[in-house]
Amino acid sequence: MPRMGETMHADLRPGERVLLGPGPSNVDPAVSRALSAPILGHMDPEFIAILADIAELLRRTFETSNSLTLALSATGTGGMEACLANLLEPGDRLVVGVAGYFAERAAQIGERLGAEVVRVGAPWGSAVDREAVRAALEAAPTKVLAMVHGETSTGVVQPLDGLGALAHAHEALLLVDAVASLGGVALPVDALEIDACYSGSQKCLGAPPGLAPLTLNERARAVLAARRAPVSFYFDLRLLEGYWFGTHVYHHTAPANLYYGLREALRLIGEESLLEHIARHARVQQALLEGFTALGLQPFVTVPALRLPSVTTVRIPEGIDGMAVRRALLQRDGVEIAGGLGELNGKVWRIGLMGYSCRERNVAIVLDALRRALGEQGYQAPTVRSE
Ligand SMILES: *Cc1c(COP(=O)(O)O)cnc(C)c1O
Repeated sequence: MPRMGETMHADLRPGERVLLGPGPSNVDPAVSRALSAPILGHMDPEFIAILADIAELLRRTFETSNSLTLALSATGTGGMEACLANLLEPGDRLVVGVAGYFAERAAQIGERLGAEVVRVGAPWGSAVDREAVRAALEAAPTKVLAMVHGETSTGVVQPLDGLGALAHAHEALLLVDAVASLGGVALPVDALEIDACYSGSQKCLGAPPGLAPLTLNERARAVLAARRAPVSFYFDLRLLEGYWFGTHVYHHTAPANLYYGLREALRLIGEESLLEHIARHARVQQALLEGFTALGLQPFVTVPALRLPSVTTVRIPEGIDGMAVRRALLQRDGVEIAGGLGELNGKVWRIGLMGYSCRERNVAIVLDALRRALGEQGYQAPTVRSE
């Protein structure tokens, strides 16, 4: 038995990884430094000022003037659950556009909350059809229309134009999942008439996992104010609003260091400019797609305009063991990519190029690693002729 002061364990030294899955992504060294700054208490005026900075930086990132804009101490799923739990009461109708795993998760959360859930389905790899959404809204009074902007399971970016106006014409709220798209794809919340939107800190925003930025407009806030059924304590957005912006009444102990990391990550986006940050995601994906062409690999999403810039899905070639390739990448090269979720399990790889991980150097790293691992399984890339 070890004596006091002794330990059976070695120092913690997690391996260094190039994180190219659908999140988490690597963080800028400046973000790592911010994480190790001294802990402040959650009632310290200095910490409250940091929260105010984060709210302001998030408004710029969401392109909104919404006063209720904050980052929840929870992951992206917590943001999803918080928005649905605050906007829905038992018996309310929720229409969800479902063309992937994360939209299905939103539908299931709605069911657990006692909502009447209507799924507007579409094949994985395509976007949800606006006319089908319209038909679902016309069928019965609806409280919330929920859509996933960047469906990480399929690599599809859902066009959102006109959906806000469509929801409002039917007196529904538009709720958008931007966990994998905020900061990587243009998402002007106010211009798109989105009423509520949530994200996650660890994908395109370039911070560690653990925080869920979210924003609600006045229409959504009015729904919170008119609620009859109470919301779970931890996710009660009105209590959280009081802590962040009101009299700063204690609600829960804020994970101070995670907030430092998010503040630095958002500040860096501002320094680069949101526009350039988003443009970089498109440019780097283009380089990856060109590399796929050279390797003879087929993107899963066939319509180029529907490809989510932050997460690219690619078909595993016939006869290749996709799991073995991922294992080789991780163990030999320290490169993490992901396999398929749900019905795409074993059929695709998912490669995320998000936030600090989104750089051309990482495209070269993952393509080289893939070429080698595929070669070991006897894969022959079609010969590319140059003129
Ligand atoms: C990652 C992701 C989530 C879940 O976020 P967690 O941080 O894993 O809880 C939800 N929706 C989408 C679209 C995602 O990509």
